[in-house]
Amino acid sequence: MKAVAVTPGKPNSVHLQKIAKPTLGDVPDEKGVLVKILKVGVDATDREINDALYGNAPPGDDYLVIGHESFGIVEGVGKAVKGFKPGDYVTATVRRPGGSIYDLIGTNDMTSEETYYERGINLRHGFLTEMFVDHEDYIVRVPEGLKKLHVLMEPMSCAAKAVYQAYEAQRRMKVWRPQVAYVLGAGQIGLLTTLCLRLKGLQVYTLARGERGNLKSQIAEGYEAHYVSTKTTSMQELVKETGRPDLVVDATGNSQLAFDAMSVIGHNGVVVWTSITGGSRKIEIPSDNINIQWVLGNKLLLGSVNANRDHFEMGIRDLALGEMMYPGVSERILTTPVDGLENYQEMMRLLVEDDDALKVYVNVADE
Ligand code: BGC
Ligand code: ZN
Repeated sequence: MKAVAVTPGKPNSVHLQKIAKPTLGDVPDEKGVLVKILKVGVDATDREINDALYGNAPPGDDYLVIGHESFGIVEGVGKAVKGFKPGDYVTATVRRPGGSIYDLIGTNDMTSEETYYERGINLRHGFLTEMFVDHEDYIVRVPEGLKKLHVLMEPMSCAAKAVYQAYEAQRRMKVWRPQVAYVLGAGQIGLLTTLCLRLKGLQVYTLARGERGNLKSQIAEGYEAHYVSTKTTSMQELVKETGRPDLVVDATGNSQLAFDAMSVIGHNGVVVWTSITGGSRKIEIPSDNINIQWVLGNKLLLGSVNANRDHFEMGIRDLALGEMMYPGVSERILTTPVDGLENYQEMMRLLVEDDDALKVYVNVADE
């Protein structure tokens, strides 16, 4: 079958690759779920992988099938599978277990090992192909009513984890009642994080470069957040208006802004970093100032990557609740479809060049 792959280490190597069809027998103990892929989303991570800044092939292969935002329909299940049946809509988690205690309890996203295994990203093939098979533990049901949000399940899982982790970490405060949150960046993660935080009742300020009135601002405002264009209002100016935020989530992909967030967070607050920055940029920071402010304010910096099946389920619940609260808003993220795996060049071009493409995804097959 067809798959879209790169040659890791070689910039701009995206190509069509022929690979073997998976079978239920590939998963031990009759625990396999065979999925026909309907749609796959691509994001900045795929761009970095194609730029050879990130990602590795599975051992023994010289190519990596990319694509980690999956949406498909179950075609067959092993005899021991209880949770799925043919015809179910599903997505799949991305990270597979290593050997640490965290991996053994299903929290692969928290592995303490340096090496991590991620489908479509690192050491495991991804989903930009026609079919895949995986253990039922890694398959997550998508409610039929959310079918129209298809490839958003994986990005939403990362947003849901970031927010959940912030709240978990803030249990250190005994009492934490955040009111104001800044979300930096209005890409898919920024917007979906905006949704998660709005559903928790926070006043959310979503900051991005684009001018107010653009699609991203309409989506943020659709979630009843405040959209702030950093062209007209800097983060420091916004602080004068709102007071220091209790929570900042950075989803800009820009490490400078991730550090800038450290200068605005309020006392007892938490800054969450979610961006994958595969480059090697260096910047100057006001280290003495940040150091003293952080000590005097008991502030916390938290990194958050990936998501386990609990976070997928949380994210899916938030997308469903989001549909009730803000009907029709989330689907506006899904701006830019590309038809067919063979149009992978166009997919990459849109991902790299089209500033209006909030979300590029491939329509792989019809049901
Ligand atoms: C993916 C995550 C992954 C991370 C780091 C992101 O684009 O959505 O699942 O853990 O990249 O590889
Ligand atoms: Zn991603």
